[in-house]
Amino acid sequence: MRQRSTLVRCTEINSFIEVRNLIIDYTRIDEEGHSVLVKRAVNDVSFTIEKGSFVSVVGMNGSGKSTMAKALNGLLLPSEGEVLVDGMSTRNEDDLWNIRSRVGMVFQNPDNQIVSSIVEDDVAFGPENIGVPPEEIRRRVDDALRRVDMYDCKDKGAHMLSGGQKQRIAIAGTVAMRPECIVFDEPTAMLDPSGRRQVMDIIRELNNDGITCILITHFMEEAAQADRVIVMKDGKIYSDSTPDELFADRALIEGAGLEMPPIIDLREKVAALGVDIPESIVTTEQLEAFLRG
Ligand code: ADP
Ligand code: MG
Repeated sequence: MRQRSTLVRCTEINSFIEVRNLIIDYTRIDEEGHSVLVKRAVNDVSFTIEKGSFVSVVGMNGSGKSTMAKALNGLLLPSEGEVLVDGMSTRNEDDLWNIRSRVGMVFQNPDNQIVSSIVEDDVAFGPENIGVPPEEIRRRVDDALRRVDMYDCKDKGAHMLSGGQKQRIAIAGTVAMRPECIVFDEPTAMLDPSGRRQVMDIIRELNNDGITCILITHFMEEAAQADRVIVMKDGKIYSDSTPDELFADRALIEGAGLEMPPIIDLREKVAALGVDIPESIVTTEQLEAFLRG
């Protein structure tokens, strides 16, 4: 996965999302009818996301991650600057539908994303809304449910499911829209450890199948699984690097108000025992693979 992304990066022709000098202001209208700035949530941010990559975004609460995420598919429009998806600007109203069908979103609270009482109806809701023919909907729903390992629950009531299962259904609903890119905004924040692991496995599998994945998370061990980590602070990009570059820099992590993934501390303890362990190890899987030899 990492290797493929590096290859794509080298060619520099496959940028899917381009964010240029993006500013997003929250404003309110005062008593005299003037627009007043409440908060500049995204402050002159530029970056590109390559097709097929897996990028995570981290940063303290209030650093602008969710605001930026909503700008990527035009749920929020730029105050200044531009967001281009496959060359289409979110400022162009005629392209918004197209942009939203290419960039799907999954949010933190699965309860807010479930719209039907029966699992398969819920997954079918999006495709039905955009007029996908019934037999194609059937195919898409079955495929999406298999991808999130929830096919056996398709006839179940959504209220019967655990938080993790509900989140997997929400992901299936997005997958059934056949997006090229999915932005996950803290999808595991409300889940227990096993629900979190399952959602992370699904995100990695979707990325392996070619879907561009952008994962906002406050779990550093999740961020470490991406090809690239963007750190936000006060509405700006504070750092943009590979996970091993980021987690090699304690001062930077602390400067952004973040914590090291627990695995890094463990790696350093192992190194202190005299084991020659590479600093490129930043996930549990990599550490396991290394220790197994
Ligand atoms: P994050 O997702 O990183 O926690 P947000 O994008 O939600 O950050 O918020 C960025 C900043 O914008 C915060 O200071 C937040 O209080 C502010 N903010 C978010 N939504 C609104 C809103 N609807 N109106 C005014 N300010 C907002
Ligand atoms: Mg947020």
